[in-house]
Formats: sequence, C-alpha cells, structure tokens
Amino acid sequence: MTAYNNFEEHIARINDLCCVINLLNWDSRTQMPPGGTVTRPFQLGTLSDTAQNLFVSDQTIQLINAAKTEMDAAGVHPDTCQYRSVLQAEEAYNLSRRVPSKVVSELARLKPVAESVWVQARKDNDFKSFAPYLETIVELCRNTAESIGYSDHPYDALLLRYEPGMTSAKLKQLFADLKQGIVPIMEKAARSQQVTPEFLKRQYPVEKQAEFAMSIAQQFGYDLSRGRLDVTTHPFEISFTRQDVRISTRYDAHYLPMALFGILHESGHALYEQGVDPRLTRTVHTTDLLDLYATGGASYAVHESQSRLWENMIARSRPFWKHHFPQLQAVFPTQLGDTDAEGFYRSVNRIHPSLIRVEADEVTYNFHIMMRVEIEMGLISGEIKVRELPDIWNAKMQEYLGITPPNDSLGVLQDIHWSGGQIGTFANYTIGNMMGAQYFQAAHAQVPGLAASLARGEYAPLLNWLTENIYRHGRAYSPGELLLNATGQELSAAPFIAYLNNKYGELYP
Ligand code: ZN
Repeated sequence: MTAYNNFEEHIARINDLCCVINLLNWDSRTQMPPGGTVTRPFQLGTLSDTAQNLFVSDQTIQLINAAKTEMDAAGVHPDTCQYRSVLQAEEAYNLSRRVPSKVVSELARLKPVAESVWVQARKDNDFKSFAPYLETIVELCRNTAESIGYSDHPYDALLLRYEPGMTSAKLKQLFADLKQGIVPIMEKAARSQQVTPEFLKRQYPVEKQAEFAMSIAQQFGYDLSRGRLDVTTHPFEISFTRQDVRISTRYDAHYLPMALFGILHESGHALYEQGVDPRLTRTVHTTDLLDLYATGGASYAVHESQSRLWENMIARSRPFWKHHFPQLQAVFPTQLGDTDAEGFYRSVNRIHPSLIRVEADEVTYNFHIMMRVEIEMGLISGEIKVRELPDIWNAKMQEYLGITPPNDSLGVLQDIHWSGGQIGTFANYTIGNMMGAQYFQAAHAQVPGLAASLARGEYAPLLNWLTENIYRHGRAYSPGELLLNATGQELSAAPFIAYLNNKYGELYP
C-alpha cells in the first residue's frame, strides 16, 4: 500500500522530531549547565516549529486522504490498526488547524519566560510579579478553548487535548463521588495524629538509596539496557521511542521515602513506555500529535494510573514490605535496625493534610487536585480573576484540608504547571488514581494467584497482564476504550474508594 506507507513515513519523521525535542528537554533538566538556558529555548522553539509546520501542512491532509482512498479501495476495515492510525491523525490534524498559529507561537514564546519568572516569584514569595504572565497564559488558553469549541464548558476543550473523552460535567460527578468516599477516611486519620517516625529522617547515603530503588525497579521489569536514571529538580520520565526510556529523581539524604517512592513512581511510567509494541514505534500510536510529544501512553491519566499503581498499590503495600524490608534493612542496617517490616509499612502510609501537593499522601492528594481543577475551571470561564488567586487558594486549602498556607510560595505558587501554559492537566492525577484501582482490581480478577505471586516478589504476572491490556497498545485506543476492554467498566471512583477503605480502614480503625 504505497499511499499508506507514505503516510506512515511522514508521521515517522514527525515522531523523530518529537523524540529529539524530548531529548533536548531531558538534557535541559538533567545535564545542561545554567548558561544553556540562554540559547536552549531557541533550539527547542525551532524544532517545535519545524514539527508543527510539518504536521499542520497541506501535505499531511493530502497523505491522510490518499491513504484513506487507498484503504477504502482495498476494502480495509475501519477498525484495523492501520485505518485507525489514519483516522487518529485526521482528528488531531483537524483539531490543530482550529487553533490559530498566532496563539500557538505566542504560548510557545511565553512559556520559558513565564517559567523563569515563576521560579523567581516562588523564591521571593511574590505572586504579584508572576500575575501578569499568568493573566496572558489564561487568556491564551481561553482563546485555545474558544477556537477548539465546546458545547457545555470551555474547560472541556482543554480537557480534550489531554484526556480525550473527559468533560467538566463528568469530572464534577467523579470528584463528588470520591470526596464522599474519602472524607470519612481523612476524619478517622485526623483523630490518630501520627507523626513521621524519626528513623525515616536519619542519614541515608544517596548512592545507596538509588541502588536499592533501582534494584526494585528492575525486579518490576524496568530494562536498563533501554533505560537510565539521572538527578533533577522536578522528577520525570521521558522516552525517545521504547528503545530509550529514562527516569530522573531528586534525593534527600535525610528523608528516605522521597527518592525511594519517587524512583518507583517514575519506573511505573517507564514500564508503560518500554512495554509498547515494537511495531508501533515511530507511528501515530506513539506520538501525541496535538502536543507534539513522543509518548507511548494513551493519555496523561492512563500514564499516571500506571505510575501510581506501581508506586502505591504495589510499593506501599504490606505484602511488598513483608517481602522486601529485609533487603532494605540489609542496605541500611544502622538506620533501620530498630524497626521491622510492619513498622516501616505503617510509617510510609500516614495520612496527614499537608501544604504541598507533591508531598501529599495517597488520600489527601486528591483534595489538592480537586481544588486546582475548580480553580482552573473558574479561570477559564472567567469567574475567577488571576489577581484573586492567592485568597481563593487559601480559602480552598482551608475548606478541603483544614490548613492555610503561611505564604504564597507554599500556596498558589507551588506548581510549575500554569507557568508552562498547562491548564487542564491536573485532573489526570486523580483520574489516574481511579483508573489504577480499576486496572488493579481487574488484574486480580483475571490472573490466577496474582496476590500470592506479588507476595513472593514475583512481578512478571502483573507486568504481563498490564502489558497485554494497556502498555502494548500505545495510543491506539482512547482511555475509555482501553479501560472498558480491560476491565469491562466505565471510569468510576468506586474501586479506588474500596481500595482506600480496605487499606486505611485497617490502619486507621
Ligand atoms: Zn507521574
């Protein structure tokens, strides 16, 4: 099929550019000396423009149309992988064409500037200096939403980019269900007032932290012949095809859980990327054509469902520590000499309302997300003004978590997302929690003896199920299709609430 091959070759070249953009981003965040910040934005800008021009070009739509004509003539079914590739590219193309290039380039130009202003503003606790940049970003995102179009709420148009199938109305319902389920857990936890045990804050040499966490990551199945670990300020996973999937972390030599669970979280993302079917390499199914980003995941939320499944449902579980605590204790014999598997398990599963999202436990974390999503919806609809943000933030923190940040650095200025023009991505973390629980439940129902093999530290049965049902498909299916095919269910908060009740009901009776 000549026309189809031409189409695939065109997308493969866009994917190559996306991989190089990813590689430059990886370099900026792990290797680049500070001086590089002066010229790196130009390099990234040139490459993004090149990828953007290549995709949103007449050539793309001609190749799409030619491939469709050819497949129709040959009687290829629209449900085949090839036909779906072309339809997905067409959908992304039409969506991209709707956003004026002026908005795209203005946002791209503003991003690095706004990010550096945000870094300084957070340092100086000075929201006012960041506010004008955020106002422009919100305006550009509102323009984007208007250009894409929506039927109910403008936020729906932004959600569509990151979480196809999700709407504000669905989100509100899911969040309301979840809130009802987790408030009682939080109330019970608040009565117990557990403090962080002193043994977690002893001296833990960072090389040893990396060594232990990476040995677990490899037991999960992270293949280091196609992966590596580096140090960064904001941990992330990034891939340049399934052949090269990297993770990064940060260390605190006086707090063991940060890098330990951070590395296992990013390893979960990496397992997803490494598990993509090799035949999907350099295709539509490993390219986010809207964001022009190389990824093998179906969406942000599906990706997050996997990092959280491995980090929380596996690595923060009692069977995990029953099996692995002796190994951890052997690496840190003096630091952990006076505790046991049960003590360690309990210490890394405390529920405690905190100011900072990324440090939150798996229960209260979801409230950090709900308030951000409410704020984003208000900003995009125009009901909330940027200048009112610090007050609104503090009021919502009080409402949801019962605490008020002492300053904006620990409040509204804590996250990088808005400075990078990302409005509409926070929800994915909590959707990911819900999906993760649904997938985990389905794996237990479908894989005989799964709980017993996990208790023995055997992760291949779980990894194989996840690879078969999720990882190998890349972006070939929508998040909703993927979930329905694997679990027989629509997205729901109930399995996540059941998981939390089961775990924390016992820890906080
Ligand atoms: Zn993540």
